[in-house]
Amino acid sequence: MSSGDSLQGLIEQVNAFADERDWRQFHSPKNLTMALAVEAAELLEIFQWVDSNDSLVLTDAQRVASEHEVADILLYLLRFCEMTGIDLIAAAQDKIKLNAQKYPVELAKGKATRSIDL
Ligand SMILES: [Mg+2]
Repeated sequence: MSSGDSLQGLIEQVNAFADERDWRQFHSPKNLTMALAVEAAELLEIFQWVDSNDSLVLTDAQRVASEHEVADILLYLLRFCEMTGIDLIAAAQDKIKLNAQKYPVELAKGKATRSIDL
């Protein structure tokens, strides 16, 4: 396992990458959120106009392109968390707890609706 195989190792790698290039000055939360939205749109673009059923199994080209875009998204997200002091794992764990309260299994199971009358 290399140091990049853990989330902390990846954080250290991407921070070093940015620092070596003196890019911290460009990584304001505003700029990073815009970059994140662009990368999410690039992932979306891979599936634009593709039939939903056809998107269930990726072509080789879609898989490679998707790998590039999910990596871009994760790396910008890690930079955003670094620059704002957000603990990504703790925030995600807290959000799962909130979602569990918002969408109890007995009311939400098998339903795709966003809001559930409690
Ligand atoms: Mg990209």
